[in-house]
Amino acid sequence: MASPRLDRSSMIRLAAVLFAVTTVSCPAALAQERALIDTHIHYSHDAWEMLPPAQALEVLRAAGLSRAFVSSSSDEGTQKLYALAPDFIVPVLRPYRRRGELSTWMHDETVIDMLESRLAASPYAGIGEFHVFGADADLPVVRRVVELAGQYGIFLHAHADAEAVERLFAQDPDIRILWAHSGFTGPNRIRQMLAVHDNLQADLAFRGEFAQGGKLNPSWRQLFLDFPERFMTGTDTYTPERWYAVADTATFSRGWLADLPEKVATLIGHDNGSALADRALANWSAAQASQSGTSCVADAQQRAIRLQGADNIAVIILDPSAVAVGEVFGADIVACRADGSTFEGDLLLDATMPAHGHGMNNAVAVSRTGSGRFRADGLMFHMPGVWRIHIELSGSSPDELNADLTVR
Ligand SMILES: [Zn+2]
Repeated sequence: MASPRLDRSSMIRLAAVLFAVTTVSCPAALAQERALIDTHIHYSHDAWEMLPPAQALEVLRAAGLSRAFVSSSSDEGTQKLYALAPDFIVPVLRPYRRRGELSTWMHDETVIDMLESRLAASPYAGIGEFHVFGADADLPVVRRVVELAGQYGIFLHAHADAEAVERLFAQDPDIRILWAHSGFTGPNRIRQMLAVHDNLQADLAFRGEFAQGGKLNPSWRQLFLDFPERFMTGTDTYTPERWYAVADTATFSRGWLADLPEKVATLIGHDNGSALADRALANWSAAQASQSGTSCVADAQQRAIRLQGADNIAVIILDPSAVAVGEVFGADIVACRADGSTFEGDLLLDATMPAHGHGMNNAVAVSRTGSGRFRADGLMFHMPGVWRIHIELSGSSPDELNADLTVR
């Protein structure tokens, strides 16, 4: 592990990056670049002074990112950034309060109190990044972390070997794991793991070996083509000086993403991260609402589509979040009564084109996934234009809710 203190050359380099950020940050120029989500950023205590929150945010934005997953030692660092840009920062809760806890946290039960109280108080998309290897994944503290992720429907960002990943899934096969650095293992092993675990996704932080000069190594390229929905880009700012690598990583990623079909590049560079964050944050909202019993806060998600009826509110998270003509998609729905309690009845979902007087060619299957929570699969908009999603709620508070979406 590199020293947390900055050496002189790093300071100079970081100063240069900051200078560039403040002088060349031009939205028009950035708009020409592929929007990326960086899923592996830390803003830990030793970075705060050197790179104050507003400047840290500038570094992320100047790299042309549209969002960043941030976890920090301590979590205060994440909260500093989240307070400035809640729509940009995806908060992930790290079990470390300071540097140096990465090999001891799994033996420290006080970590659990910290995680529980923070999860109850503010939104998180995941727990991590934490380090765990081999049989340590079955220690009681780690087991409790897996339970918490299940309870809130949020992901685990695990810096782990394949054995630990297996042990985490054995505890709860429904858990979603973002495998940090793709486990620092080779494409064949990653392929085996992805094939076995549908809920396993992997970040590519600190992995430069799979591409050179914008050309992907053939075995990695095939891996990305075979599992386009499983990979995400990231930097890993594990020491303060790594912040200068954020822009370099984005440039490197844009280079090799261009070696993939556009649809795959968009998934890996952006949409996979976006879908993971949106779904997890919606799950957190629903879990928090049902636990507090006081308010249904599902509508707090800015990226969700909010439908208002006479007596109920429904929030739809599309999956994937960008709907394309002719492509099947799904939706997660959270339904709440207008008074803030959870909707307990049944839900039907359909879509039509009001201007054309027709519906979809596909049959939609809706299933209940929890209290007031539903999943719709098999949606497909077969032509461009305005589509109306129609939801019928039945039970003690029947309602009809509509949302219009323009699909190009
Ligand atoms: Zn990391």
